[in-house]
Amino acid sequence: MTSSIDLPANALVALTRESLIALRTALFRDVGVGAVAPLQEAGYAGGQAMYDAFGRWLASRGLASPDALAAAEFSLRATEFFRETGWGGIAVGALDGVATIDSADWAESDPAYPLEFPGCYYSSGMLADFFGRLAGEPLAAMEVECRSMGGSRCRFLVGSADMLQHIYDEMARGVAYEQAAS
Ligand SMILES: [Zn+2]
Repeated sequence: MTSSIDLPANALVALTRESLIALRTALFRDVGVGAVAPLQEAGYAGGQAMYDAFGRWLASRGLASPDALAAAEFSLRATEFFRETGWGGIAVGALDGVATIDSADWAESDPAYPLEFPGCYYSSGMLADFFGRLAGEPLAAMEVECRSMGGSRCRFLVGSADMLQHIYDEMARGVAYEQAAS
């Protein structure tokens, strides 16, 4: 299937995976943990354009707006959309208190450039804004598993800032995120 995404009409720019990986690798090398906030901020700033593009992409297929799709339909269409835009497939699920977004081929991750921590910070920002627009309220996102750490998938938790802060604090105490989210 050929892509139907009109990049300029959707305020999108084609960026190569290599450039994205090189950017985050160089930032972590030269700036260290200080790279996290700028990458998240950049991703967050692009959430609206991605959400709007998803809405147009759905409309061009005669489908309802993102917030009007049933959960299963949303997950199916969102994975098609993120694949077509080059990010990778996603599976949307839930733990007790947060949504989960899993991807086995996420574009910001690269097992060839291993990290000791989840590294998809641009994506965390983008997904927080994207799913916040879907939910109609501000949300936060945190990556808890990452292919850049040698895992089989990237897993993002999306929920309220308070809930994610709680999970973050619990993880810092050595509690598994699955337990912290319950
Ligand atoms: Zn990742």
